[in-house]
Amino acid sequence: MPRTLITGGAGFLGSHLCDRFIEEGHEVICMDNLITGDTANIEHLFELGQDRFRFIEYDVTDYIHVNGELDYVLHFASPAAPDDYLRLPIQTLKVGALGTHKALGLAKAKDARLLLASTSEVYGDPQVHPQPEDYWGNVNPIGQRGVYDEAKRFAEALAMAYNRYHGVETRIVRIFNTYGPRMRIDDGRALPTFMSQALRGDPLTVYGDGSQTRAFCYVDDLVEGIYRLLMSEEGRPVNIGNPDEITIQEFAEEIIEVTGSDSPITHEELPEDDPEVRQPDISRAKEILDWEPTVDRREGLRRTLDYFRKNVDVKVSSET
Ligand code: UDP
Repeated sequence: MPRTLITGGAGFLGSHLCDRFIEEGHEVICMDNLITGDTANIEHLFELGQDRFRFIEYDVTDYIHVNGELDYVLHFASPAAPDDYLRLPIQTLKVGALGTHKALGLAKAKDARLLLASTSEVYGDPQVHPQPEDYWGNVNPIGQRGVYDEAKRFAEALAMAYNRYHGVETRIVRIFNTYGPRMRIDDGRALPTFMSQALRGDPLTVYGDGSQTRAFCYVDDLVEGIYRLLMSEEGRPVNIGNPDEITIQEFAEEIIEVTGSDSPITHEELPEDDPEVRQPDISRAKEILDWEPTVDRREGLRRTLDYFRKNVDVKVSSET
């Protein structure tokens, strides 16, 4: 039975990966320090995975010790929402740099294959559109978002160095905006913010004039792409995301429609270094992994709405 460590396994993406690897018959060790993760995301796995699922509350910026063999290490620990990395700048830098170093050291010691969760943020505010993997990016190293972007750029460089110098098998996924159940409703990202505002009847806060674009991928599609990449022989970074690009203004309008809300839209100041456009070029994933997204945004939003209905209601009722 393959043994897999997933750092950040109690987070949004990490927990969906835990589900997938349990389904695939792996023994899964989930590690998380819970600063942005939540054990509610993995509770069901204690029963479903039975003795194949284990949770360890741990900060992976410290030396990681795991008993026994490991086949795969998926390094997903990191704050990933802009509000979170503005609130936790040092932790974000540390987990991208020191955490990646520890995860790679563990993979080397166990002769395991490591998959690094990288990000479209390595492209910064891109001057090439859509973004192919061979675009080097346009990142402000000292801006507020720089803590995440530069940590992930360093993490990619470190993974490549461990691959070239130590022969560790590494995979790098560049994850574009992803959404679905288990996003933290108050993580400040566009989708959780808009959906909870729409469900509560509050105004949707579009930053700037809303002409900036993003392309949103449903979480199940993302997990499939990551699984295929891990099992492939591709050592270069691979973009995984949905190329269906939309302006944030249109996205807010779409959420109002899907939720059936009569909330208005208000405009607030655009955050520093907010990328103007973003869309993955997924030619490499298509060609090498035979992967492309299958869930369109309307369908994905409907599936996500069920989760938000449950969780936003809970919050509203506990506040009153
Ligand atoms: N955004 C917004 N209102 C919000 C939250 C986000 O208009 O309440 C915008 C944000 O400025 C960005 C886009 O939505 O242009 C996507 O933001 P998110 O935080 O989801 O992720 P990003 O792609 O910037 O990492």
